Amino acid sequence: MRIDLHTHSSRSDGTDNPQELVRRARAAAIDVVALTDHDTTAGWDEAQAAAGDGGITLVLGLEISCRFAATGVHLLAYEPDPSYPALDAELERVLAGRNARLPTTLHRLRGLNIDISVADVRAVSADAAATGRPHVADALVRLGAVRDRDEAFDRYLSPGRPAYVDRYGADLVTMIGLVRDAGGVSVVAHPWGRSSRRVLTEAAFEQLRDAGLAGIEVDHNDHSARDRAELAAIADELGLLRTGASDYHGVGKLGHPLGCNRTAPQQYEALRQRVREATRAAGSL
Ligand code: AMP
Ligand code: ZN
Ligand code: FE
Ligand code: FE
Repeated sequence: MRIDLHTHSSRSDGTDNPQELVRRARAAAIDVVALTDHDTTAGWDEAQAAAGDGGITLVLGLEISCRFAATGVHLLAYEPDPSYPALDAELERVLAGRNARLPTTLHRLRGLNIDISVADVRAVSADAAATGRPHVADALVRLGAVRDRDEAFDRYLSPGRPAYVDRYGADLVTMIGLVRDAGGVSVVAHPWGRSSRRVLTEAAFEQLRDAGLAGIEVDHNDHSARDRAELAAIADELGLLRTGASDYHGVGKLGHPLGCNRTAPQQYEALRQRVREATRAAGSL
């Protein structure tokens, strides 16, 4: 069984539409794929329609932009009911924060003599529920200001670079509770990638587990072999599930092909069990 629990479509900042994503996963001999767009479930219906053709199991998820100890942390949420009002309201706030940031980003770029309009960014993000930095990067590529997304982040869009603008993120502990109350299961995405390493200590994971966290994404390309071994030990110690995934973004993120990291079948089965329990508990609230 090849199980990949973290992928993005063009409903956020991936480059395949949800149908293409499911088709490619099937072609890559993936048995179980989770669609986890940033802060939106907009791709779920199309992905489900494509998975209905058979040959693959689709897990409905999303990757939610959160905050913990003043640091950005991404939370993977599997199978929550997106119509649960408190979850829906919080996702709306996050998406609004994404869109609100864009004019400031573009203003900063104009200060660097790079002239991109909101319409230019919309032209490269027409399918997306909200804009992200990768879309600004694509507009910069289209203008010829940079070669690719990586160069756009390195020169302009990463924290500390001149066009970086912070935005709203949901409180992580609160969000873990909302996902659970909505009948879903949560897993911290790439905890030791980029910025969140400092704040996600073993003690922090213990606090998150007590708030309802189900697992840690251990196998991710942002983690070294040593990170993976240490995170796996923390997960085992705390009774958290261990997942692995590609964080595929189509051609938008190089070096993250579908299935490049995978979740072990027993871990996946345990995650399914947690979803069943959460769904049952939410139904009886
Ligand atoms: P945003 O959600 O708008 O803050 O943008 C974050 C997204 O940008 C994530 O999906 C990352 O995959 C992507 N990203 C972050 N850093 C880089 C980078 N250096 N090169 C390419 N993509 C990046
Ligand atoms: Zn992304
Ligand atoms: Fe992420
Ligand atoms: Fe991701």
